[in-house]
Amino acid sequence: IIDVRNVSKWYGAFRVLTDVNLTVERGERIVICGPSGSGKSTLIRCFNRLEAHQQGDIVVNGITLHDKMRNVGEVRKNVGMVFQHFNLFPHMTVLMNCMVGPMWIKGVPEAEARRTALQFLERVRIPEQANKYPVQLSGGQQQRVAIARSLCMQPAVMLFDEPTSALDPEMVSEVLETMTGLAREGMTMVCVTHEMAFARAVADRVIFMNAGQVVEQGKPDEFFGNPQHERTRLFLSQIL
Ligand code: ATP
Ligand code: MG
Repeated sequence: IIDVRNVSKWYGAFRVLTDVNLTVERGERIVICGPSGSGKSTLIRCFNRLEAHQQGDIVVNGITLHDKMRNVGEVRKNVGMVFQHFNLFPHMTVLMNCMVGPMWIKGVPEAEARRTALQFLERVRIPEQANKYPVQLSGGQQQRVAIARSLCMQPAVMLFDEPTSALDPEMVSEVLETMTGLAREGMTMVCVTHEMAFARAVADRVIFMNAGQVVEQGKPDEFFGNPQHERTRLFLSQIL
């Protein structure tokens, strides 16, 4: 569903991604890890064109991403994204946060958008928070709203950029449980995270990035049990 071929990207003179190759199959769960500044966020932000790459090809759900494309919206409809800092609309209730995407971008009628929103708030287990504003919720609850909001768009793939790293420790597990549930239901997921227990339990493949390159990838057993590269071993020894 995502095909990345020989992709490079620069910020000015700084090469942030170097010849990245990566495919994500429908239904696959991918975890991307790597040191700070290695380009993880940049890479997944290229998948929904929040960032533009300069070299190579990225195809998402059959759409080729390039400078002259006119259908960025079409791509984003299919690709949900959850950020470290939730990025909810602060002036809207939880329910409205979940309704506006489908209504404004997909033209879904209000009553249907409301039904769908309540259904997904139910699924992330906070339907009782529907009429509150984001600021009235805990971090873990806000992040679950952000997940529900993305799901309301019925995306073909979900991208997560360190969704638990801004949370207090006691709220991490509720968000990971929500993500694990999604994975079990067969959602295609690309997760940048350092939650290695989650990676072991859920990932089909773990990808390690360093200095803008994919250094190594493998099934969790192989990746954690027998990392091939010195850089991977060093990284794992620092975070495990
Ligand atoms: P972290 O684990 O800290 O989130 P990351 O792997 O997600 O790191 P990126 O955010 O993708 O790393 O950043 C990769 C590199 O690109 C870093 O060196 C960063 O300073 C640089 N960078 C990121 N965004 C920009 C930007 N808008 N302009 C210039 N440089 C940037
Ligand atoms: Mg990042």
